[in-house]
Amino acid sequence: MFWREFPSKAAAKIAIQKIINEQPFKQPFESSLISDLILERHYFCSLRGLRPSRFRKIPSYGAYSFEGDFTGWLERDIGWHPVSWTKCLMPPLTEWDRIVRAMRDRCLDAKTFYRDAHFICEGCGIEESAEVHHKQPSFLAIATSIRADVSDVEIADCLSGWDWFVKGDFSLPEGHKITGLFDQRHNLANLEALCKDCHNKTKKRS
Ligand SMILES: [Zn+2]
Repeated sequence: MFWREFPSKAAAKIAIQKIINEQPFKQPFESSLISDLILERHYFCSLRGLRPSRFRKIPSYGAYSFEGDFTGWLERDIGWHPVSWTKCLMPPLTEWDRIVRAMRDRCLDAKTFYRDAHFICEGCGIEESAEVHHKQPSFLAIATSIRADVSDVEIADCLSGWDWFVKGDFSLPEGHKITGLFDQRHNLANLEALCKDCHNKTKKRS
C-alpha cells in the first residue's frame, strides 16, 4: 500500500483531487483525509505535528492555490497559509531531505530571474527557454557538498529555526550556517536556461 487505503501514489492523487475539485473557490471545507495527509506526510507539518482542519482553494495562476487554516496551531497566529498537498505525495525520507527541499524552493527566484534574462534555449539556440537547471555543479552536488560540512546537530537546529510566519513557502532560516553555505555555493554555480526538449535530455544523462 502507498498510504492508507490507496495502493499507489496515482490512486491517492486522484482521490484527493476529486475531494478538492468538488469544492467551490474561497469556500472553507473540511476533509479528515487531507488533514491526516498534511499531518503525516507534509515536509514541515509532520515535523511540527500540525494538522489543519479546514482548507480552501484560491484562484491562482495555476489551477488554484491551496491553503490550510493554521489558526491556533502555532505560538503566533498565521491563520490561512499555503500548504501543498501534492508535496505530501512525495514525503521526505530524512531530516536532511527536508532541508534539500527548502534549498530547491530558495533558488526558485534566481532561476526565474535567469530564465527571463535568457529567453532563448542555451542548448539548441532555437526554442524558447522553459526550464533553468544547475549546469555546473549540479544541484545535487551542491547539496551533497553542504551535507559533508554540517553536523546532525546543525541540521536539527536549522529545522527548529524555520520561520513559520513568512507569507510564501516555508523556507530556510536567514542567518543559519546551512542557509549561508547554500547561498554561497549556489551563487557560484552556473545556471543554464533550456527548452523542454533540451532539459529532458539533461535528465536522461544524469
Ligand atoms: Zn533547446
